[in-house]
Amino acid sequence: CGIVGVLGSHEAAPILVDALKRLEYRGYDSAGIATVNGGTLDRRRAVGKLVNLSDLLVHEPLAGKSGIGHTRWATHGAPTIGNAHPHQAGPVAVVHNGIIENFRELRAELADKGISFTTETDTETIALMTQAFMADGLSPVDAAEATLAQLDGAFALAFLFEGEEDLMVAARKGSPLAIGHGEGEMFVGSDAIALAPMTDKITYLEEGDWAVLTRTSLVIRDAQGELANREMRTIRMDD
Ligand code: GLU
Repeated sequence: CGIVGVLGSHEAAPILVDALKRLEYRGYDSAGIATVNGGTLDRRRAVGKLVNLSDLLVHEPLAGKSGIGHTRWATHGAPTIGNAHPHQAGPVAVVHNGIIENFRELRAELADKGISFTTETDTETIALMTQAFMADGLSPVDAAEATLAQLDGAFALAFLFEGEEDLMVAARKGSPLAIGHGEGEMFVGSDAIALAPMTDKITYLEEGDWAVLTRTSLVIRDAQGELANREMRTIRMDD
């Protein structure tokens, strides 16, 4: 129900949890974060309130300055730890708001290739497809693009990749997504409020857009794959 992401210069976990707190007003049943630290992509997830995730992170910290986070409002699969986001398949982790309407067809295609599932969510399909494209030799960005081309439905997404501490892919189709610009940092959020403590410089993705982020660059393409110029605005927030 809420998405955040950070390519930062400080430890990502506390920033992600704080940003998720600012999205709590939307409601949720579970939450999680993933970070990439050196070569390692790892995640922590908890059912219930964000404080449960914070508690878990005290006992099982997650290092790294690049990460994604999610508050889930379950649409496909019960609100369990296993169904909580981020969903990880090998070298890719993904957070997702919304619904992938054709996930049953996509699941069947993956199953035909011998790929098996560990969750009941529509989201896991996205992670598994991206992993499969990477296994076929595609780069992380090309694999994400190829996956996005297969997805029907209304969604916002953020992808994080193993061994890629300065890369994130984000996409918007039917569910808003804001990119936040920092000083040598880049952020993603379901709305600008989530990013308010970090930056007020926001670029909104438009319908069908997908973006490749690094700490110092943002390249946005439209649904046809053409480079898109989206204005960066300074947002005023009274809080
Ligand atoms: N459809 C996804 C799920 O059920 C995402 C739900 C959400 O937007 O939080 O896991």
